[in-house]
Amino acid sequence: MPAQIGVTGLAVMGANLARNFARNGYTVAVHNRSVGKTDALLEAHGSEGDFIRTESLEELVANLETPRRVMIMVKAGGPVDAVIEQLIPLLEPGDIVIDGGNSHYEDTRRREAELAQHDLHFVGVGVSGGEEGALLGPSIMPGGSAESYKALGPMLEKISAKYNDEPCCTWISTDGAGHFVKMVHNGIEYADMQVIGEAYDLMRSAAGIEPAEQSKIFEEWMGTSLSSFLIEISAEVLGHVDAATGKPLVDVIVDSAGQKGTGRWTVVSALQLGSPVSGIAESVFARGLSSQRSQREQAQSVLAGHESTVELPENFVEDVRQALFASKLVSYAQGLDMLGSAAAEYGWELKLDEIASLWRAGCIIRADLLDEIMKAYADGNKPENLLLAPAFAEAIAEAVPAWRRVISTAVQLGIPVPVFSASLAYYDGLRRKRLPAALIQGQRDLFGAHTYERIDREGTFHTQWSGDKTEIAAVSTH
Ligand code: NDP
Repeated sequence: MPAQIGVTGLAVMGANLARNFARNGYTVAVHNRSVGKTDALLEAHGSEGDFIRTESLEELVANLETPRRVMIMVKAGGPVDAVIEQLIPLLEPGDIVIDGGNSHYEDTRRREAELAQHDLHFVGVGVSGGEEGALLGPSIMPGGSAESYKALGPMLEKISAKYNDEPCCTWISTDGAGHFVKMVHNGIEYADMQVIGEAYDLMRSAAGIEPAEQSKIFEEWMGTSLSSFLIEISAEVLGHVDAATGKPLVDVIVDSAGQKGTGRWTVVSALQLGSPVSGIAESVFARGLSSQRSQREQAQSVLAGHESTVELPENFVEDVRQALFASKLVSYAQGLDMLGSAAAEYGWELKLDEIASLWRAGCIIRADLLDEIMKAYADGNKPENLLLAPAFAEAIAEAVPAWRRVISTAVQLGIPVPVFSASLAYYDGLRRKRLPAALIQGQRDLFGAHTYERIDREGTFHTQWSGDKTEIAAVSTH
């Protein structure tokens, strides 16, 4: 019997996805550049389902039913192009090439256009959930043509994570939309992790709450609107004691955060789109600063410090929880707003309620909050910004006093809370009646004759700054 899907690239992600397909009843043809990985997979897990072992891409393709579905799970970047190049002559019009790796969405757009010239479908699929998700059910964000989804979607939905029996997989939109949405998911993930880190730092450094006790606090927070995978694993990490030293593990881990790059991609794309994802950006920058170990070490003795004693607000821990919730909400609002900007730029029809629904299970940012976010965009509701949805405007209003108290305390104590503060600044920036952008427009008009609009008349204007300072109607040069 021919296989319904072929997977090439059997390192950890490809092997786990292949096993996931097989366990769900599909026959899977498997291939890896070096045959050792294929044999290792089949030796360890060959009995889990129907696999067809192949040694070359020719053999892989020859074992597939039509339209052929070939999933590429090799190292992102050049290797994906190399495999595509080898596949093109082996495939027929209507076949589907799937890239389930962490590819940049611009690469996916380029590859989709190239393969369309060969009448082949190219589907960039965002897969979130790490190794375990790939095996047991990830959150899946497929792009590509709507037509390709008819032949591929049901299989992806079957292997995806489920939330109340609903698959965490749906067609996102054309070409690179799936990888774009996965990228923004990762940006939100960076911010979500950083705000939890800031809450931990505040409770530790301002209130002296030790990791073991914080572990219990995080467990309690699982019963609140903060309930999420990341809070759950934070409780586990904070409660873990290092066997070698007897100290909390968090105290022996070097405090430099790594990154593979998708958070950075989110920020670069946001800058290109003019999308104000300040909280997400600060979370990427915070990882960068944490990695500047030499500068940080010198700064400890060179740079002046902070006030040593500050009276903590009553119910400080609850204040921190609320500040964390509000900041997290802003990160989601910024990420979803960025999706709106990308939809306009690339002509994607992104349904934010469906996207929020995909993130409810299987992925790293899975959280109860996402069900509420989905509802805020459901039934034709399209708040221009998540924070403007009535339920969230109300929720954040309740958190605002605590949010301000926590940030004031952190500033006085010299505890950096970059995402808490950037998120509050974003919130205040949105709601202020007047912004200093008016002065910036004046400055721009003075040094570059960039013109400005007036609040009381239509049109664009320029003040003749170097002349008699009279105002003239102008043609805008931005
Ligand atoms: P790797 O990124 O480590 O890539 C290794 C695989 O790529 C091997 O199968 C290797 O073959 C193959 N490969 C490398 N270069 C070539 C080439 N030129 N031609 C053919 N094959 C090549 O594998 P992972 O499983 O870790 O990740 C796969 C994808 O999934 C990546 O895009 C990664 O970023 C993404 N990923 C996603 C995660 C998630 O949570 N969504 C988590 C981890 C990864 P060989 O054995 O012959 O060397």
